[in-house]
Amino acid sequence: VVRLSNVHKRFGDNHVLKGIDLSIRKGEIVAIIGQSGSGKSTALRCMDHLEIIDEGEITVCGHTFGKGISSTDLKQLRQDVGIVFQSYNLFPHLTVERNITLAPRSVRKLPAEQARKIAADVLAQVGLSDKAGCYPEQLSGGQQQRVAIARSLAMDPQLMLFDEVTSALDPQLTGEVLRVIEKLAAGGMTMVLVTHEMAFAMKLAHRVIFMHEGRIHEQGGADILRNPQTAELRQFVSNGL
Ligand code: ATP
Ligand code: MG
Repeated sequence: VVRLSNVHKRFGDNHVLKGIDLSIRKGEIVAIIGQSGSGKSTALRCMDHLEIIDEGEITVCGHTFGKGISSTDLKQLRQDVGIVFQSYNLFPHLTVERNITLAPRSVRKLPAEQARKIAADVLAQVGLSDKAGCYPEQLSGGQQQRVAIARSLAMDPQLMLFDEVTSALDPQLTGEVLRVIEKLAAGGMTMVLVTHEMAFAMKLAHRVIFMHEGRIHEQGGADILRNPQTAELRQFVSNGL
């Protein structure tokens, strides 16, 4: 589903990704960990062409791109990939239902009734069936984040990318969101999770990737967190992150 070959990304003089090679199989759940600034978010954003890479090649859901991508491929890529960030970015002036039906109607060109049916389905998946008519400000942070996940799911993605989706939430709300992600995992969704929730990563991820200074420094099963092979990962784990 995902293949990165020798991916480099620079912001000016800052060489942020220094040759990332990574393949992710259908149904695989990959957790990306690492210090602040190690390039985790940048790597994730490159997979959805939200950042344009300087070198290398990426294939995601059958779409291959380097620096450039055709507009038809980009449109299809954005449909096939759901991405959820720390901030939920819901439209404040639209109800939960309208937030969710917007893209299915405008991008997938679905009729209103079908889009509403999909909204009902994805809201049920995230446990918010009763909130369709609410505005974002009437919801808790955890509920808003679950709406953001539902909004991605409404596009029927083949791959979900999560970038520290619980960092802004207190522990109880974090639990609600993590349970939604667990349910997606149980349903076989292919996922990449950038996370600071080590216990969660260990429980759910088939593979853990430790990024350090723009490279994949160590990777393996969840046991690499219990038994790190490199000094850098050992230090990262012992810092309790
Ligand atoms: P964190 O854990 O803090 O989220 P991260 O591993 O996700 O960190 P990135 O956000 O990928 O790190 O950032 C990696 C480096 O790239 C940092 O040095 C950051 O300052 C730089 N960077 C990221 N986005 C941009 C941007 N849009 N413009 C310029 N520099 C950027
Ligand atoms: Mg980040």
